[in-house]
Amino acid sequence: MTENNSLEKKLGVWGKDKIVREDGKTYAKDFYCVECYSKKKEVPADSFFPVFDPDIPVHPYCQKHIDEIKVSLILDTIDEHWAG
Ligand SMILES: [Zn+2]
Repeated sequence: MTENNSLEKKLGVWGKDKIVREDGKTYAKDFYCVECYSKKKEVPADSFFPVFDPDIPVHPYCQKHIDEIKVSLILDTIDEHWAG
């Protein structure tokens, strides 16, 4: 095994590191998925979620966790529908 760390892209931890690119924007791909990171796994995020409501704070997530959140949101909506 050779020392490969210098080639590795350094990602930030959401809420701790502030990574802004030259164009002044923040990209999800510059951060770890907050859900994976909470489980001590360092997985690059794919995009911010949710993006449909500016009042809800967004976090960077990997695609797997975005899919999981979307499924749970749909199930919640169905539950509310049948409960109401
Ligand atoms: Zn994740």
